[in-house]
Amino acid sequence: MLVRILFLLVTLAGELVVGGLIDTFITTRKDFSGLLVYFSMAAWLIGLEMQARDILRPPGGAADPPPAGLAAAGGAVHIRAMAAQLDHTTIHAIFSRFQAAEPEPKGELAHVNAYTLLVAVALSAQATDAGVNRATAALFRIADTPEKMLALGEEGLIAHIRTIGLYRNKAKNVIKLSRILVEQYGGAVPSSRAALQALPGVGRKTANVVLNMWWRLPAQAVDTHIFRLGNRSGIAPGRDVVAVERAIEDHVPAEFQLHAHHWMILHGRYVCKARKPACPACLIRDLCAYEEKTE
Ligand code: SF4
Repeated sequence: MLVRILFLLVTLAGELVVGGLIDTFITTRKDFSGLLVYFSMAAWLIGLEMQARDILRPPGGAADPPPAGLAAAGGAVHIRAMAAQLDHTTIHAIFSRFQAAEPEPKGELAHVNAYTLLVAVALSAQATDAGVNRATAALFRIADTPEKMLALGEEGLIAHIRTIGLYRNKAKNVIKLSRILVEQYGGAVPSSRAALQALPGVGRKTANVVLNMWWRLPAQAVDTHIFRLGNRSGIAPGRDVVAVERAIEDHVPAEFQLHAHHWMILHGRYVCKARKPACPACLIRDLCAYEEKTE
């Protein structure tokens, strides 16, 4: 680490020296023929500095995008460490171990039916499952259908969820999507990704969670934990959430597809953590391709 910090300091000092030379050239000489060389040196040093800053960024930490950003973007996000795609035998061994450790992994968002699951997932963007569960425990006792949610109204809903981030916007969306469910689907939750994603506040990740947890489809909802684990380990490397989703679909053997989402999210959340992965205690340590495992 010390060497890396020195490397960064040297590049910064070099930039200062070259900047001073350029300044001297411009202010004291009429002949500008040497300027191009100095500008090239400055560009080269700036490139080195950017590399040094990237190296010094904590593993999987600040570089990791937040869940809501991932869901909303669906596009390119910066990742520092992308391992090469693991082969079939290794991935089969990884998921065999996940399965042996937890044969029936469960999501942690409390719900009583498809509608409350949809609402809970929509509320969980940029919030913890535990925080959402605390808020929805009382809410779902009085509003477990879209009709009851509409009767409760936006202000009534806000009174229950004001401890959750972005609660005003989320309340608006829940009321709007409840109205659509009543008017277009007879109060039921649709079972296609396209219909789900057409609802206000429902992105691809939310739709995939509902398809996976309620409809038992092998849909892969990639959040920040799965994105990080997929890229570090080599289970599913990809530069954005859709690429990671595709890599899981393409490379995880069929018999593990249904539960892959929960195995990966729980492993990412509790073991392969953002700032300091618990590699010594990790059950796939010998199969994982991450080059900066913790000791
Ligand atoms: S060995 Fe470390 S980096 Fe690899 S999956 Fe386990 S916790 Fe994550």
